[in-house]
Amino acid sequence: MSLLVVGSVALDSVETPFGKADEVIGGSANYFSASASHQGPVQLVGVVGSDYPVEKLEPLKARGVDFTGLEHAEGESFRWRGRYRHDLNSAETLETRLGVFSHFRPKLPEAFRDAEFVFLANIDPRLQLDVLRQVRQPKLVACDTMNFWIESRRADLLELLGKVDLITLNDGEARQLTEQANLVQAARWILDRGPRTVLIKKGEHGAFMFTRESVFFAPAYPLESVFDPTGAGDSFAGGFMGWLARTRDLSDANLRRAVVLGSAMGSFVVEGFSITRLLEISRTDIERRVADFHRLVTFDQALDT
Ligand code: AMP
Repeated sequence: MSLLVVGSVALDSVETPFGKADEVIGGSANYFSASASHQGPVQLVGVVGSDYPVEKLEPLKARGVDFTGLEHAEGESFRWRGRYRHDLNSAETLETRLGVFSHFRPKLPEAFRDAEFVFLANIDPRLQLDVLRQVRQPKLVACDTMNFWIESRRADLLELLGKVDLITLNDGEARQLTEQANLVQAARWILDRGPRTVLIKKGEHGAFMFTRESVFFAPAYPLESVFDPTGAGDSFAGGFMGWLARTRDLSDANLRRAVVLGSAMGSFVVEGFSITRLLEISRTDIERRVADFHRLVTFDQALDT
């Protein structure tokens, strides 16, 4: 299996109704890798500044995340500050400091260029395109994005859409990108511009997977307490892509399994700050949660009405 991710390697400061975390390990690439590493090795491409506490990435290295593609640049690391109020579905960005990301030009180590599964995590679409130009013959390329880039780099994002197989984005971002209020129409708008699969996440309300032929829906796990939603989207993507890279099966049935595993991984990360929960959980915890998902959505179709 070869799974490559490019994305932000950040220091996050987050406030939720349940507490605060300051300058903790965050960023789309870190969340993705922590989640996907439960399925197999991950190659990470990104940049950190001279102030990044790199020793805190050791647990990820121990889990099989290859940081050879992490550039160490002079300057400040990427920082994101966000807040969630009682509606834990949407983050309010208080501050985004790009730091060393403003001058970053990704250079893939030779060994990474043969990656079969590529995830262009939330980052400047120009950098996502840069990475895509350097991979040789990927089997599946997926990307993610967010409001920040939809507003500031729309043309690059549209170019990227023409070059990826799959996109993951949340409902608000899908509406913003497509200017369609209806999610089915938003998905069609995106499918018309390149990707064969569109995954629209709806936070605590689950996730839809649209292709030209089918629609699949997985609920979110009904957790009794959500502590910090940061990273749910990237952990979802990590579970999803990790499963595809491990099984190398792109059938519709297997994509559906991947969506459920993604939802399971998203449900773990929100139980704590930063990537803590993803580092604690075991294979058995994941299997149990997937079994819970199965129970949650299974019913006897023989309804007498
Ligand atoms: P999510 O999985 O959508 O909750 O993503 C959360 C992560 O996205 C946080 O750890 C942030 O560091 C990162 N992030 C926030 N804004 C940006 C941005 N503009 N570009 C790249 N990463 C970002």
